[in-house]
Amino acid sequence: MSKVRTRVAPSPTGDPHVGTAYMALFNLAFARQHGGEFILRIEDTDQARSTQSSEAALLESLRWLGLQWDEGPDCGGEYGPYRQSERKDMYAQYAYQLVEQGQAFYCFATPDELEEMRQQQMAEGEPVRYDGRGLKLSKEEIQAKLDAGSPYVIRMKIPEEGVCVIEDMLRGPIEIDWSQVDMQVLLKADGMPTYHLANVVDDHLMEITHVIRGEEWINSAPKHQLLYRYFGWEMPKLCHLPLLRNPDKSKLSKRKNPTGILYYQRLGILPEALVNYLGRMGWSMPDEREKFNLKEMFEAFDIQRVSLGGPVFDIEKLRWLNGQWIREELSEADFVSRYMSWAFREELKAAVPHIQPRVETFTDVAPLASFLLSGLPDLQPEQFEHKKISQEEMVRLLQFGLWQLEAERDWTKERIEARLFELGKQLDVKIRDLLYGFFIAIAGTSASFSVFDSMTILGPDMSRARLRHAIQVLGGVSKKGLKKLEKEYRLLADNIETAINT
Ligand code: GLU
Repeated sequence: MSKVRTRVAPSPTGDPHVGTAYMALFNLAFARQHGGEFILRIEDTDQARSTQSSEAALLESLRWLGLQWDEGPDCGGEYGPYRQSERKDMYAQYAYQLVEQGQAFYCFATPDELEEMRQQQMAEGEPVRYDGRGLKLSKEEIQAKLDAGSPYVIRMKIPEEGVCVIEDMLRGPIEIDWSQVDMQVLLKADGMPTYHLANVVDDHLMEITHVIRGEEWINSAPKHQLLYRYFGWEMPKLCHLPLLRNPDKSKLSKRKNPTGILYYQRLGILPEALVNYLGRMGWSMPDEREKFNLKEMFEAFDIQRVSLGGPVFDIEKLRWLNGQWIREELSEADFVSRYMSWAFREELKAAVPHIQPRVETFTDVAPLASFLLSGLPDLQPEQFEHKKISQEEMVRLLQFGLWQLEAERDWTKERIEARLFELGKQLDVKIRDLLYGFFIAIAGTSASFSVFDSMTILGPDMSRARLRHAIQVLGGVSKKGLKKLEKEYRLLADNIETAINT
């Protein structure tokens, strides 16, 4: 068998997600156990959503966890470049090759025409899907449109009937009807590939032997398998890992629980403990021991022992495991040095300009800064009392603010500020009054420095977790209440979005 090569292929959008670390860990463990190589590939073909800062945070957080790749955008390798945006000229030829072979076709439908098609399908109660109109064009019609410079996309052909069988390393054969699979766009009108084309081409060119990824990609597998067949390439083995879940079994999402790797770093979780915990998601050591390090995991790893029941990512269990690591694995000297480097981490320097002008002695520092070094503050409902704002109104303001901040992908002071100022304007609430609850939620007191600066320093996940916590302390929102708020918020949200983006 050829040398095992696995990869993790994240898209650099938003905060690095614990799900990405989970995939990286299992790909790395599989590669190490077979004496193979582990590759990091950045899938940034979606130029509108990908950012450099997100990519930098991704590399930093995987490194922090000790999930070191053998080839990647930072260290290079024989199969580079490892960033899809740097490979973008490579993909189009493959789409045209399939057109030549009669396995893909031009589609000149405009977005308006496609929208009309969808509306009609909906009105007639039919499934909404691309209707294959591009396939009906004659050679002459296609040529005439190409000559006229009409914009087009290239879509792949899909068998009209029958069943596609995917072999999954954990699940065995999976059957999906071809009627469920759409004629996927491979090349977009701007000449950029879609995820599907770029992913297959790169896995092939990078000689990936095993694709280990989340189960949300199972439905894409028929298209990928067909592309490998069209190109006449050998397909890597597929393995779809279960998705991480919240304790209530819903899909792990930032709306319920913090999902950012950096959040757990800020919470004072040791990287050893976090990878250890991720290693227990659907997998266990043969002797069922709970605490193990990466090396021990690699030695004992067997992917066939991954169980498919949705693994629950439970912060309380993670804290417990972290406590084991802190108490059993760190000497007193280690404890001091690890704590010092955590407490005096680079990003906290951003607080100095706010703290230094407010102190007379060093003893004044800790009380001002302690909220930056804590987890969720210990809050009482009375702290939120305000002469103009009732408790119910306070919850409403915090919830609207939380939703605003959940919508923000570019976590900068300017953006946070713009969102909350606009929220105040739309609600006709003075910014001072609006921010009162935010101060308490974030810093535990209204006597702190700018809450916008605090939130910027604390980062998105920690800030949002504190707002959610404050809402809980104030009694939370009932299901019915939430529906009402959501309805009211929908109108607001569009106005805010327009105001801050123009
Ligand atoms: N870019 C995809 C993601 O963001 C990669 C999926 C795959 O591993 O094929 O998860």
